[in-house]
Amino acid sequence: MIKRILIANRGEIALRIIRCCRNLDIETLLVYSSADKDSLPVQLAQYAVCIGSPAPKDSYLNQDRIIETALKNGCDAIHPGYGFLSENADFARKCEENGIVFIGPSAGLIEKLGDKQSARALMKKNRVPTVPGSEGLVADGKQAGKIADEIGYPVLIKASGGGGGRGMRRAYGRDEIEGAFDEARAEAIASCGNGDMYIEKLIINPHHIEFQILADKKGNIIQLGDRDCSIQRRNQKMVEESPSKFISEKTRKKMAKAAVKAAKAAGYYSAGTVEFVVDEKENFYFIEMNTRIQVEHPITEAVTGVDIVKEQIRIAQNLPLSYKQEDIKPEGCAIEFRINAENPFKDFAPSPGEVKYLHLPDGIGIRTESMLYQGYKISPFYDSMVAKVIAYAPKRLEAIKRMRTALEEIMIEGVDTNIEFLFLLTFNPDFIKGSYDTSFMEKNTKGLLEWNRAGRMAAAEEAKEAEKEAG
Ligand code: ADP
Repeated sequence: MIKRILIANRGEIALRIIRCCRNLDIETLLVYSSADKDSLPVQLAQYAVCIGSPAPKDSYLNQDRIIETALKNGCDAIHPGYGFLSENADFARKCEENGIVFIGPSAGLIEKLGDKQSARALMKKNRVPTVPGSEGLVADGKQAGKIADEIGYPVLIKASGGGGGRGMRRAYGRDEIEGAFDEARAEAIASCGNGDMYIEKLIINPHHIEFQILADKKGNIIQLGDRDCSIQRRNQKMVEESPSKFISEKTRKKMAKAAVKAAKAAGYYSAGTVEFVVDEKENFYFIEMNTRIQVEHPITEAVTGVDIVKEQIRIAQNLPLSYKQEDIKPEGCAIEFRINAENPFKDFAPSPGEVKYLHLPDGIGIRTESMLYQGYKISPFYDSMVAKVIAYAPKRLEAIKRMRTALEEIMIEGVDTNIEFLFLLTFNPDFIKGSYDTSFMEKNTKGLLEWNRAGRMAAAEEAKEAEKEAG
């Protein structure tokens, strides 16, 4: 059994893992960079070891240093959280070679699924619907043009190793494709060092709907329902909710089945997420499988009552799942808003700095996951997400109202944040009615910024009708 886990991450997810380990009577050792020496996870983990300077490559991505720290300090497992090394097959392999349990799937599984093009091919072979597109990798802009002519415009050029929306470009015609291909590839190489590219048909204004999977090493696979993550900025998620308001129960069932089939086809174990895009007619297509814990996992925890991190750790210890499929009965509605230290008026530029005053929201149905405290200095070296607020209620409109109340209450002073922007979003009639897709932010950012300038009254007025309808 695992006695001591090394946590190779920071921020709110490090705290989430520390809390879970405490509940399981497992010791925690946190590795951190010098920029994080005063962080809450450093204070709350039983042991903390500084492994390098702030740049991720010198600390949170320094594989050998992390393995060495685990071995030296008697850690029998490593939890990678999300981002950083969480989907790095080489790292998972190094853990395996050193007799350390990697809390996630095997290196082989990460490899198989982390390469999006080969994951696509695997799904296609197993009859999980995929977006029409290139059969394999696409060598250059010229070949991209030929393929796009065959499948028809518009197309989406994607990086096989990409993540966080990087290495992706749309092309609406022959004249754009070669330029778009080169741009996408350059961005892919810069962000993940891998220039492997493929092409999909661009689904017009789809929904992003994903299913949470749990699978143990004994062949049991269950799904914990769906999350609608269509509210995105530049292909990056901002708001997530469970269940999706868009799909019918019939589609939900079909997608759940496809998600389990996808995990089975890969021989998957651990917690994982099967992502789909869904068109306006509710046709759904696999886009990728994430082999780690997701930022948005708490909304699934809210509607199912399952502690996903705990299950992930249990699976890593070769224990069977604590649940059977029939035990999972999602109830109510949960919404997560990502609070970022950024300035929406400056194209959402990050806003690091010292938190001079802090109040985090509370109350019925509210869960806040954050590493902030008063006096904490938000570092410029890492992601700008500083808190997640999750609102849960039996009914969707009630969850929205609880979220609104929470966002009215939360105070993070000293840095710019997207709090007011998100607060105003809760008044948007389309959001209230649940009639939105991935084009929502493109359509609404300008209007939300105008509301922000005009004050809250205008927003409240516009929400009234929609609330009546949704109520
Ligand atoms: P990443 O791993 O970089 O997040 P994904 O493949 O998960 O990339 O896609 C990110 C987002 O891009 C999706 O949530 C969706 O909004 C959009 N997207 C991806 N594939 C398509 C597609 N074929 N058509 C339209 N939009 C897509």
